[in-house]
Amino acid sequence: MPTSRYAAMLAWGALIVLAAAAWFVTGTRISARLGFDAAAPGVGVIVAVAVAVTIWRWGRADHDAIALERGACPRCGAGLARRHEHALPGMRREGMLELRCPDCAFERIEPLTCDRCAT
Ligand SMILES: [Zn+2]
Ligand SMILES: [Zn+2]
Repeated sequence: MPTSRYAAMLAWGALIVLAAAAWFVTGTRISARLGFDAAAPGVGVIVAVAVAVTIWRWGRADHDAIALERGACPRCGAGLARRHEHALPGMRREGMLELRCPDCAFERIEPLTCDRCAT
């Protein structure tokens, strides 16, 4: 694993832990103030987990976007095969770009209109 990727993972991990801890405290305090004293730690845990999952998704989307920009598969890092289909005349269909990984089942279709796409 390249060092930069490892560092990015560590940074995201630290961010998740910090945010989850902060939201655990906030969630516990808010529910205690609302009178749910007994349930307060439980509410804190639920809020912390929700925050952690949200940030983890951001981190993964970030990682996917960087990999796709390099033309690499976000799952296994292999080079992606690109296939472009031109738009059909009269905008019957928009142009699209199909990215497919030869090593794993990763597949993504993105809208793409190139210079030679019929307008
Ligand atoms: Zn085209
Ligand atoms: Zn792959």
